[in-house]
Amino acid sequence: MLRFGFTSLQLDGANSDAGQAMALGGLTNGVSNLELTAAYAGIANGGSYYKPKLYSKIVDNEGNVILDNTVEEPTQVISEQNAWLLIDCMKDVVTGAGGTSSAAKISNMTTAGKSGTTSENRDVWFVGMSPYYTAGIWVGYDNNGYKHELSSKAGETSFHKKLWSKVMSRIHQNLENKDFDKPSGIVQVTICTKSGKLAIPGVCDSDGRSGIVINEYFADGTQPTETCDKHVLANICADTGLLATTMCPNQIVQSKVLLPAMQDGVAEAVTLDTAYGISSNLAAATCTVHTGGVYLPSIYEQSGAAAGAVTPTDPNAASAANPDAAAADPAAGDGTAGSAAGQ
Ligand SMILES: [Zn+2]
Ligand SMILES: [Zn+2]
Repeated sequence: MLRFGFTSLQLDGANSDAGQAMALGGLTNGVSNLELTAAYAGIANGGSYYKPKLYSKIVDNEGNVILDNTVEEPTQVISEQNAWLLIDCMKDVVTGAGGTSSAAKISNMTTAGKSGTTSENRDVWFVGMSPYYTAGIWVGYDNNGYKHELSSKAGETSFHKKLWSKVMSRIHQNLENKDFDKPSGIVQVTICTKSGKLAIPGVCDSDGRSGIVINEYFADGTQPTETCDKHVLANICADTGLLATTMCPNQIVQSKVLLPAMQDGVAEAVTLDTAYGISSNLAAATCTVHTGGVYLPSIYEQSGAAAGAVTPTDPNAASAANPDAAAADPAAGDGTAGSAAGQ
């Protein structure tokens, strides 16, 4: 933040800005629009920051230079690669599916940016950039105290994006559309969004939902190298959708998301993954209808922890190799296997 030229940060005392809230803009004194826009311009400029200035030079009536402010001394504040990745994220804000600032799109021009809002809609911001220009806009009351909130219903929290777009569209109307220059050292890899690790073909993309496996850009050297540890292939009882036992007559191999195991007696939270997952708590995840034996996929037998794709083994072979699997499972013998999940 200091390298980006912000001068209003409070770095000492009880209200120090040096904390995690800074990442969300939770600053004691806030920042000025000029400094904020200059910082974004540094990102748009490949991580190269120029201190903002209000004039370039002043000359007298004979053309003699009195004040010269044209010397440019940029500072590289973040790497070119990280700057480009930030821009790539901020393009999604404007033009991506579900982006919150589509109203800010500059007519016929690559646009990136980020909106901001303070508590109770007292201030709204948008700072955005094209490959040519960066601009920032703030809307609010001079006195932003109680009862000076902007009304989202009346469009007061969105019109600044339209205003920004109108101004920038005029500025860009004779400029050729182009994209931000992509530096060397950017790689694209296919990742699983459930783990953030490399997607396993045939496993992560068999989750049953779209958009689980995506292509993502990384600065070379920061891309994941491990494979997904959230998806497993498991033998599932087709009748109950739970992990199959040796007694389940209809078994299918399915890709499942491993859901976090909860403490005993604590009901598992229902999330968007619930319908596509199995509990890491095997007692809660194993078929309760066809009981009499428990078939555990080999990965659990080996390590008790998930480690990527599980190749289902022959249920008979598994139980033969580990005849104590059922007995060792405390829930298998007392008929309470299913109750933990339902409480
Ligand atoms: Zn995965
Ligand atoms: Zn079953």
